[in-house]
Amino acid sequence: MDYQLLASLLFPEVTETPEDMEKRFPPRNVKEGAIISRMAPSPTGFVHLGNLVQGLTSERLCHQSGGVLFLRVEDTDKKREVPGAVEVLIETLKHYGIHFDEGATVDSDSGDYGPYRQSRRAAIYHVYAKQLVLQGQAYPCFCTEEELQEIHAEQEKENANFGYFGKWAKWRDRPIEDIKEMLDKGMPWVLRFRSTGNIENKIKFTDLIKGEIEVTENDIDHVLLKSDGIPTYHFAHAVDDHLMRTTHVVRGDEWLSTLPFHLQLFRALGFKPPKYCHIGPLMKMDGSSKRKLSKRKDPELALTYYKAEGFPVEAVYEYILTVLNSNFEDWRRANPDASTDDFKFSYKKMNPAGSLFDAAKLKDVSKNVISKMSAEKVCELATEWANEFDKPFGEKLSEDKEKAVAIFSIGRGGKKPRKDYAVWSELKDYMGFFYDEFFEFKDALAENFDKNVVKNILSEYDYNEEADQTEWFENIKALGEKHNFASDMKAYKAQPENYAGSVADVSGFIRLAVTGKNVSPDMYLVMKILGKEKVNERINKFVASL
Ligand code: GLU
Repeated sequence: MDYQLLASLLFPEVTETPEDMEKRFPPRNVKEGAIISRMAPSPTGFVHLGNLVQGLTSERLCHQSGGVLFLRVEDTDKKREVPGAVEVLIETLKHYGIHFDEGATVDSDSGDYGPYRQSRRAAIYHVYAKQLVLQGQAYPCFCTEEELQEIHAEQEKENANFGYFGKWAKWRDRPIEDIKEMLDKGMPWVLRFRSTGNIENKIKFTDLIKGEIEVTENDIDHVLLKSDGIPTYHFAHAVDDHLMRTTHVVRGDEWLSTLPFHLQLFRALGFKPPKYCHIGPLMKMDGSSKRKLSKRKDPELALTYYKAEGFPVEAVYEYILTVLNSNFEDWRRANPDASTDDFKFSYKKMNPAGSLFDAAKLKDVSKNVISKMSAEKVCELATEWANEFDKPFGEKLSEDKEKAVAIFSIGRGGKKPRKDYAVWSELKDYMGFFYDEFFEFKDALAENFDKNVVKNILSEYDYNEEADQTEWFENIKALGEKHNFASDMKAYKAQPENYAGSVADVSGFIRLAVTGKNVSPDMYLVMKILGKEKVNERINKFVASL
């Protein structure tokens, strides 16, 4: 076969060579050991936890090593593309703290290794497509859709493996005359890879997360360029990762099955393959067994879910670190106030089999993260959330910021800050009673108390705004004593039958009247924030309702 002739027939417009590309995209000037990696998503509009896991892993590896993280948009499949998806992707990742040093931007590019949208790199891919043809490693295939379907049907009948290979690869060894004839007729063609692999062979390969694994060689003559000249992801990514000088590819392990083909491509193109980190899937418990998180069944796979629920970004970020690096939790315990950037993230600590997503654990992490925030920060984030997802609540928080900050200050600071809420969407239930608009009796008075006694106690209660916490409590105790509610808890516990109840019950009556609930933040502070007038108004209302 005259490959020179074939190459000039297929790519008459290509004048540049791989050497030209090497000059245009020279090796990066980075220090030894710096990791260059990328996120290479397809713009489908759905940004999920897997993207964040991958993004965070690459981001940590790059930035911890003094390397570069870039964003490449893999938009070669126009059918799957959703308008605006790139913007959503960039904004979402930024929201979660994943910043790119270079790559695709919302409407353009930034960096020296672009363009960073594959759809704008056709001319580059054609240089390498031509080279493969010149080397006899790629050939045009004129099979129509119908012919491919026939091949598939035949394979089914023969119980053979599916795909374009061996005797089914009709155009693999066709003489140049046949090809020329088809080209002269203007028939559409795709460019296929001439695989020399054999599925009887296994290749050993070391993945940085999975360790040494064995994969089966690829024997399929996969498509490199589609009939419109646009490359497939496989071909495009090999060219791009080489020219963009990627040292590490971090991606989901669903790509392991095509890895043999990718390695073949790197070899055929004369490129040094990058190092690979294939991340195991995100799983969850379903009954007593584990299964992969699914887009269809699990709303928590979408990143929009966390925003709508009101998880602070830091909490999601920190939770993912917990899930990805087995030593993160110990580190966090030893360094409760350190920035997550100080944690030494390592692919060696990643579970090769994947990570178990645990909603309860995420909430714990979130409670912890929120408990360490300042009241001002909680107020800012909660208001931001409410303005988007619960407007009336947002309005109340913004209306009197000082009051909101005072509420958020309850239980904050000190050695053991309270951990009352994990997400902003729980706040209204926790503190809505501070605002008349959201105040309601969520709980009822326990059946065992005589309503008249409660009425009397509450009617007699005289809230002294000026009292300090001790005095305030003494007043409640004294009021209780008067009605035979023990103020000495020890004595009460020893002989409860001697009393109508205890001071805890008296506090409970006040709590219920003022907050509408049996559980609330510290009542001393609650009442201080509400003020005497509001406290009395609520108590009177409650008394009237009994
Ligand atoms: N475009 C591929 C995806 O959407 C990227 C795979 C890779 O990172 O190599 O997941």
